[in-house]
Amino acid sequence: MMVSLPHCGEAPISFSSTPVDKGLIRLSVRRAGTLTTAMHGLGTEAIIGLRGPYGKPFPMAYLSQLDLLFVAGGIGLAPLSSVINSCLANPDYHGHITILYGSRTPEDIAFMGDMALWRQNPGVHCQLTVDLASADWQGNTGLVTTLFDQVAINPAQQSGVVCGPPLMIKAVLKALAERGFSDKDIITTMERHMKCGVGVCRHCHLDGKLVCVDGPVFNLAQLKELNVREIS
Ligand SMILES: Cc1cc2nc3c(=O)[nH]c(=O)nc-3n(C[C@H](O)[C@H](O)[C@H](O)COP(=O)(O)OP(=O)(O)OC[C@H]3O[C@@H](n4cnc5c(N)ncnc54)[C@H](O)[C@@H]3O)c2cc1C
Repeated sequence: MMVSLPHCGEAPISFSSTPVDKGLIRLSVRRAGTLTTAMHGLGTEAIIGLRGPYGKPFPMAYLSQLDLLFVAGGIGLAPLSSVINSCLANPDYHGHITILYGSRTPEDIAFMGDMALWRQNPGVHCQLTVDLASADWQGNTGLVTTLFDQVAINPAQQSGVVCGPPLMIKAVLKALAERGFSDKDIITTMERHMKCGVGVCRHCHLDGKLVCVDGPVFNLAQLKELNVREIS
């Protein structure tokens, strides 16, 4: 969705709710700059502008046939939580879900409520790490790629689904390819500065494609046809 507030601007924000949540749209917003700081100050009765949805979604029909390895960095868990909860709500989904989530610090960890629910599901395995530990942090420390050796990986039956900042995406795509995931089973979002959301302004160009209309979801086979920094 393109989300706006009068006099503050407009920015792309992903759905973190699912179509199963009838009548509800959940947006999870990290405080980054002008608009998102203003959004963090809104009260419960506030009115915001929404337009969309735009772009290409995650390939849910394909993903619902496979075990899934989700790799998220920071607020990148927002769109992936929607995919995870959609799979878990789908009675025809019988796969196993592994979630690897990296956060900058323990204070920055988002989606604690979702993670607590996911961990109660025997079909879900969830691992967390932080880049910078605080004195009382007892979990993993290190980049999200350090979690790869702690979980069962089976590229023959799994798809990797990735969302996070560009540097993290680059490291994770490389790690998935090294572990034998096929290009079509490495699925990621691309983040670029997006303005219009409908393919007119071309701010979010990606070597001939536009993130707002052709993406933001791409598989590695599609990215290999483009000259993008995440796989260079
Ligand atoms: C497809 C897509 C989905 C997104 N989903 C979410 C979401 O669900 N939740 C969420 O919190 N954020 C999401 N974002 C990121 C969000 O749109 C930006 O953080 C937004 O610019 C914040 O607006 P602002 O006015 O608060 O900050 P701004 O004042 O626009 O920017 C703050 C800082 O972030 C940098 N920045 C702005 N946009 C981008 C960008 N696209 N890539 C890299 N750096 C940028 C600026 O250069 C500046 O340093 C998404 C981005 C994309 C492209």
